[in-house]
Amino acid sequence: MKIVYLDNNATTPLHPEVLEEMLPFLKEDFGNPSSLHQFGRKVKVKIDEAREKVAGIIGADPSEIVFTGGGSEADNLAIKGVAFASKEKGRHIITSQIEHHAVLNTCKYLERNGYRITYIPVDKYGMVKPEDVAEAISDDTILITIHHSNNEIGTIQPIKEISKIAEERGIIFHTDAVQSLGKLPLNVDDMGVTLLSVSAHKLNGPKGVGACYIRKGIRRLHPLINGGNQEMKRRAGTENVAGIIGFSKACEIASACMEEERERLISLRDKLQNGLTEKISHVRLNGHPTERLPTTLNMSFEYVEGETLMINLDLEGIAVSTGSACSSGSLEPSHVLVAMGIPYEVIHGSLRFSLGRENTEEDIERVLEVLPPIVEKVRKMSPLWEE
Ligand SMILES: *Cc1c(COP(=O)(O)O)cnc(C)c1O
Repeated sequence: MKIVYLDNNATTPLHPEVLEEMLPFLKEDFGNPSSLHQFGRKVKVKIDEAREKVAGIIGADPSEIVFTGGGSEADNLAIKGVAFASKEKGRHIITSQIEHHAVLNTCKYLERNGYRITYIPVDKYGMVKPEDVAEAISDDTILITIHHSNNEIGTIQPIKEISKIAEERGIIFHTDAVQSLGKLPLNVDDMGVTLLSVSAHKLNGPKGVGACYIRKGIRRLHPLINGGNQEMKRRAGTENVAGIIGFSKACEIASACMEEERERLISLRDKLQNGLTEKISHVRLNGHPTERLPTTLNMSFEYVEGETLMINLDLEGIAVSTGSACSSGSLEPSHVLVAMGIPYEVIHGSLRFSLGRENTEEDIERVLEVLPPIVEKVRKMSPLWEE
């Protein structure tokens, strides 16, 4: 049985060339980049090169990149870093209701510790209205944090409009761009962001490494981890050398074939969406019809449980997720779909298909062959289903 992996928004397989690039640093090139002898110097040069590559893909200067232990840490560094450093200036933060938990739970933590958070609602497509952000600003607002694209539904936010509002009011603006890196062109100047988070394992890089872009001149940012002078004193600890080098290789590969991949994935995604819509009745798309990640298709199948579909697909060797990977394992309805105003029973019938570089036309055909009879079978057993 051919395995079909369609959960690339949760994580992606390591690209073989990325692994190749990492191996020497797990073997003979084991030096500590802070050491002044040849072992250290050799590795230091490679870390500097990696920083240039990662900076390059988002249009930043290498001095603006701080490597972290992943996307969650980058989000924490940006949000807590600003919050702790600006607490005399103000304690109000604006975010959205549909952020990744790395942002949402960081905000909730701050809320329990004397900060005030405004959670902006979204429309039925999961989009934030820039006017709502403007209206939420008050004199003590120190940070606006709105993600670039959503991991569950793929909706892409109007980041430029929001950053303009932030800039006019002199407020620091952070965006979690973890799902966008390598899939959409990202330029920190065009976007007008002050801080931005990315992670390697969502673009065929290794897990446990990411980066926070911190615009030059930003002084008001506390480190999360104190210790040595690594990462311009913004993130102490001996570098995850192999991880950082793998991350930069993943960025290089993704940016070299981004346009081609984007077109290919959109066509696969739409084939899946159209096929499922044709073959199965009572389905709906969750997310924006066009302003959406090329990789992401979230659909609700009414009168069935998403978990039941997922388990049946898993038995057929097809891996998808229900709602967000982080909340699966529990039947908590996804906070993203709830915020979009989708009725609970429809949320419970939702599946997320997320595509990646290894997916092919045959993968999509297989899902289109396997899923419709599963839905039919499950619906026949449902007391809610009558047709
Ligand atoms: C995966 C993800 C994160 C967390 O990144 P990790 O590297 O897994 O910590 C944060 N934000 C979004 C949007 C994500 O998809």
